Amino acid sequence: MNNRLLVIEDNEQNLYLMRFLLEKSGFEVVAAEDGATGVDLALRCDPLAILLDIQLPEKSGFVVAAELKQHGHLDRVPIIAVTSHAMVGDREMILAAGATGYIEKPINPETFVAEIKSYLSENPENTND
Ligand code: MN
Repeated sequence: MNNRLLVIEDNEQNLYLMRFLLEKSGFEVVAAEDGATGVDLALRCDPLAILLDIQLPEKSGFVVAAELKQHGHLDRVPIIAVTSHAMVGDREMILAAGATGYIEKPINPETFVAEIKSYLSENPENTND
């Protein structure tokens, strides 16, 4: 079964923590530090889901989510926004841009992987892998 997650995150410490927690739980992590690289990798690495930071250099996560959604075969790949934005309306904005769900930073190491898995189980295709 494919256990590959794509993490698009420009902050080294956040990426380190997410990778540590996810790999400890048996996921394979592919990482990109900017949106353009992230979209490119999304098209090539067949990820189970995409974890997307919103505050990225050059292109925001909103733009990246919209770009990912332009590619038809990524339609069923959940996009999980991971962001420190706590402003009212951000959740609606990122969901409107195409994200499946939303996790707030700082991430909670005790619940992070379970939250990610909860979004994966919403994808009925996963049960067929
Ligand atoms: Mn960032």
